[in-house]
Amino acid sequence: MGVQYCDFKDVDIDEVDAIIVGSGFAGAVTARELAERAGKRVLVIEKRPHIGGNMYDEADEAGILVHRYGPHIFHTNDQRAFDYVRRFTEWRDYEHEVLADWYGTYLPVPFNKNSMEIAFGEEKAAHLTAKLIDTFGDERKVTITELREQDDPELSKIADFIYKNVFLYYTQKQWGLTPEEVDPSVTARVPVFVSRDNRYFQDAFQGMPSYGYTPVFENMLDHENIRVCLDIEAESVFDLEFQSDDEDAPLAAINVKNQVFHGPIIYTGPLDELFLSRFGRLPYRSLDFVYETFDKESVLPCGTVNFTVTEDYTRITEFKYLTGQESDKTTIMKEYSHSYDDPGKQIPYYAIINEDNAAHYERYRALTSSLENFHPLGRLAEYRYYNMDVIIGRALALADELVG
Ligand code: FAD
Ligand code: UDP
Repeated sequence: MGVQYCDFKDVDIDEVDAIIVGSGFAGAVTARELAERAGKRVLVIEKRPHIGGNMYDEADEAGILVHRYGPHIFHTNDQRAFDYVRRFTEWRDYEHEVLADWYGTYLPVPFNKNSMEIAFGEEKAAHLTAKLIDTFGDERKVTITELREQDDPELSKIADFIYKNVFLYYTQKQWGLTPEEVDPSVTARVPVFVSRDNRYFQDAFQGMPSYGYTPVFENMLDHENIRVCLDIEAESVFDLEFQSDDEDAPLAAINVKNQVFHGPIIYTGPLDELFLSRFGRLPYRSLDFVYETFDKESVLPCGTVNFTVTEDYTRITEFKYLTGQESDKTTIMKEYSHSYDDPGKQIPYYAIINEDNAAHYERYRALTSSLENFHPLGRLAEYRYYNMDVIIGRALALADELVG
């Protein structure tokens, strides 16, 4: 059948049981679940000209499959999330590896026993590794924050080296902040690993959709009960009614096409933007992507190289490693991070996690908590740093709750 696209002006709202804003994993999984398990007639509202959220991929001019909103590698320990995505396409095994470009020398990231040998030489590395094993145990992951807290002078030296050569400049580029200024959970995503394992992730299930992510979404949204409107913003569809004129007055109802909509509304966009940023905009980091195609089979030694001490971009990804595509050409992508200050032109990619921003977000969240049929879900609407698998898990959990 294929995805049923429609024009919002042709939608008869009496024939819609649930509205979902956004067609990333949060939106697409809940749409499918409500349509399939509860027989709901679902309308998906998406402001981009395509489905798939940040996972959207397509062939570029050279025919190379590229990710348009940042490189996405699927990895999880959540069996349910993995089984769920496997329903919608074939998957290929892929285990991502990352190297840090350290003044032209490559160090495996997460920094591990192999990185230690390259940086310090075999003999010194053996001594330092023994010390790390004595302190933390073998095959253990240690955060850079934890390592920097060690009093032992040799451990302090290792910590300093890794901090300066792996975390400091990369974090400054990515967040405009030093590692001390970002929430510890952010740098903890990439630990120091007392191991020879060069993989970026150690999750039990890792892979990539064999034909790309876009077909996953096309298959997920291909259901007789789902219709999708592209190029339309929630703000133009929803007419918000508040309990009073007070700035902090909670929502009383959401009207769509001049009538109160009583069915579930799952909102996966930025929560502040729904309220026209009345309490000020929530801070995010945005990214610019610069692509380059070469008449060569390959240009990088692995899927991603992080530039941890030089360059003004953070990392370069060569998609063919991720996708397994064969071609005599290859395309790479550089990522440049900057603050998000123009919703008209930029995309909010990363919530900036800290106490002030969490409180700022809660003020918006409080506007919605009184409205039982309104469900903020996803990386943007929950203002969190969630990976795809977590979003899929949360979408399935919300669907369980709604389906009952
Ligand atoms: P999104 O994918 O952002 O989808 C939200 C959708 O809502 C978008 O399509 C948007 O256009 C739409 N929308 C927003 N506002 C409105 C509105 N007002 N009206 C209508 N539509 C609206 N996770 C991993 O597991 N592995 C990775 O390797 C990985 N790499 C990443 C790399 C980058 C650069 C980034 C930024 C993220 C990465 N992630 C990765 C995280 C992953 O992108 C998220 O977990 C995932 O996108 C969350 O899905 P979502 O549906 O919540 O949000
Ligand atoms: N990080 C770093 N150097 C690296 C890799 C990661 O400093 O080589 C820090 C940086 O602050 C980054 C965070 O760890 O934002 C999380 O990295 P991850 O690769 O998980 O980021 P994402 O893929 O989500 O952009």
